[in-house]
Amino acid sequence: MAESKQEFDVLVLPGDGIGLEVTEEAVKVLKATGQLHGLTFEMKTALVGGAAIDAEGAPVSEETIKLAADADAVLMGAVGGTKWDDLPTDKRPEKGLLGMRKALDLFANLRPVQVFGPLAAASTLKPEVVKGIDLLVIRELVSDLYFGEPRGIRDTPNGREGYNTMRYLDWEVERVARKAFEIAMGRRRKVTSVDKANVLETSALWREVVIEVARDFPEVELDHMYVDNCSMQLIRNPAQFDVIVTGNIFGDILSDEASMLTGSIGMLPSASLGEGAALYEPVHGSAPDIAGQGKANPLAMILSAAMMLEISCQAPEAAASIRDAVNRVLEEGYRTGDIAEEGSSVVSCSEMGDLVTERLSGQG
Ligand code: NAD
Repeated sequence: MAESKQEFDVLVLPGDGIGLEVTEEAVKVLKATGQLHGLTFEMKTALVGGAAIDAEGAPVSEETIKLAADADAVLMGAVGGTKWDDLPTDKRPEKGLLGMRKALDLFANLRPVQVFGPLAAASTLKPEVVKGIDLLVIRELVSDLYFGEPRGIRDTPNGREGYNTMRYLDWEVERVARKAFEIAMGRRRKVTSVDKANVLETSALWREVVIEVARDFPEVELDHMYVDNCSMQLIRNPAQFDVIVTGNIFGDILSDEASMLTGSIGMLPSASLGEGAALYEPVHGSAPDIAGQGKANPLAMILSAAMMLEISCQAPEAAASIRDAVNRVLEEGYRTGDIAEEGSSVVSCSEMGDLVTERLSGQG
């Protein structure tokens, strides 16, 4: 059997604000994990967002996009900040992120929602409802209502009209559905496809294609849920879900709803996948209110690095050793300010990174 790859080219894009602080901690944890698990990372760093606007005149340069396309994976912090808030929309830091998504055709956005036992009380839901949640929302990211044409605002005899086009091509559904089934095979083998097939033709096609793809994965259980019911079920009984796959607009809303089950934005990682290099980033933004003060929670970024190990490096043991280390640190009562409770030991961003690094193990 061919030996699996052990060396990886990683493009690191710290971005702005707390992006810089949390990325430093994730890189620290990644290097230490690599040493324990026999993996090496060739890391290049580049600018994105406001930092790139200031130094290179654009939120992401062609050169950075090329570096990303040539890498095995991209690890990104966050972009944005008050300094660039008055720029026109197409010149703002966030354009760097959108440009990267488009250039790499990152069509599947993955947001895992896992409740770490010691943080169950941080959720706004009852601990018995959130206990044991381990679900993954896969949102199609580059089509649907957000990209459909025609779109616009026009004058009509009945008044001004705003209009958008909800649309999907069969192959756009197929590739994201296939990704969902492949990922479900490595989890609890259950896919819930979310649509609104009772009223939308776009959803009728979506459902048809998902059923076709499911034939290639007989070991995976597939069920279908209308989006309104899904939003209710996420609050009522979130532990019933394994993998949820859905279109861009439904996924936008459901993934935010699902992520809040954990109660803290500083804990949420994400991955965006295409056919080539994938992008890993925390769900949170650049948090200008706490940037540069050592108060940021680096765990979302560290858990994004764990996702990178699992998906792009095919090193599930290394990923598990990071998650176990995070759990251990939380069990011992260490918290950054955003997740602090009475009686916990509040630590800084870099202290949290050090604690996770110290608790990594070679076994996973
Ligand atoms: P935000 O996620 O940056 O912050 C929201 C709140 O959560 C703030 O109070 C912040 O202090 C807190 N917070 C966020 N991450 C935290 C962490 N890791 N540890 C502790 N506390 C944390 O969202 P915002 O305030 O709406 O946006 C700030 C800037 O970030 C804006 O310029 C926005 O456009 C940008 N943004 C970027 C991304 C991205 O890069 N993917 C995502 C969202 C927002």
